[in-house]
Amino acid sequence: MDRLYLVVPCYNEEEVLPETVRRLTDKLNRMAGKGLVSADSRILLVDDGSRDRTWELICGFHQENPAVSGLKLSRNRGHQNALVAGLMTARELCDITISLDADLQDDIEVLDQFVEAYHKGAQVVYGVRSARDTDTAFKRSTAMGFYGLMKKMGVDIVSNHADYRLMSKKALDCFSGYREVNLFLRGIVPLIGFPTAVVTYERSERFAGESKYPLKKMLSFAWDGITSFSTKPLSLITGVGIAVGFLSGLGLLAALICLLCGVSVAGWVWVLVSVWLGLGIQLVALGLVGAYVGKTYAEVKDRPRYHIEMLLDEGKRPGGEKG
Ligand code: UDP
Ligand code: MG
Repeated sequence: MDRLYLVVPCYNEEEVLPETVRRLTDKLNRMAGKGLVSADSRILLVDDGSRDRTWELICGFHQENPAVSGLKLSRNRGHQNALVAGLMTARELCDITISLDADLQDDIEVLDQFVEAYHKGAQVVYGVRSARDTDTAFKRSTAMGFYGLMKKMGVDIVSNHADYRLMSKKALDCFSGYREVNLFLRGIVPLIGFPTAVVTYERSERFAGESKYPLKKMLSFAWDGITSFSTKPLSLITGVGIAVGFLSGLGLLAALICLLCGVSVAGWVWVLVSVWLGLGIQLVALGLVGAYVGKTYAEVKDRPRYHIEMLLDEGKRPGGEKG
């Protein structure tokens, strides 16, 4: 039977934790009762350097509830890092992990469906929100804009999927090969490959406490997402340079033709056209440098080139490979 770890990053969550642990323990028991997961499945609460009583609460739960484990980070490192710390710890201890937020905004009743999809062969199962009516219009439109922009930048992410996700041990082992510091989980997970599945659910509002993701954190999250995954902004420079150079070249040509035909051309036209031409050349040169920077960036990240799903050869076990 598969052992499940629910990985829950917590930052100043004293208000929600008691209720969250109660609901998750109950859910795990019901799942174990149905034979979906093993009875020694657990909840791993990751304290992301909270300043309130979060860690004391976690210690207390751990003592009185055999299903609760705790992991404490030395200081606040942000949701994504806390999540990775939890997942990398859990991967040594279990067969499947599901990551979810401490405020239980993501409907935990669909956890069964996650595990069922895993039993059907999915190594990664994405929780996707069916509706966004509990969000403010602002959050909704900024989120949609973000997904659109990411897609345009060539980053493969699953729309309306936050970090509510099942990952098998196999997927996590592959994931551990991505050693980049600027971590954007939602972009990396689709890179891993393997069969995946989607479970849709409705997201509710926080039942207590307030959001730990103010606008500033959201913007820096989006910025990280784009700059960690795409070098398109760099190639954009070359594109703009070529366009500017081409247009000013046309201007220059027109002015020369006028000159040859004996039509007088005002002095400012020459100045303008040559300034723009110079600008175009500079931008192209900058874009060229950018192309090398982009390639260096990819090399520095040292991402795995491939992951092996299966090898048909007696006596060997497939594993992740570093290219
Ligand atoms: N979180 C964290 N570190 C942070 C900020 C948030 O671990 O620096 C956790 C938080 O405790 C919660 C999850 O990340 O479990 C999502 O945060 P929140 O619910 O505040 O975000 P929202 O749902 O408003 O986007
Ligand atoms: Mg939340």
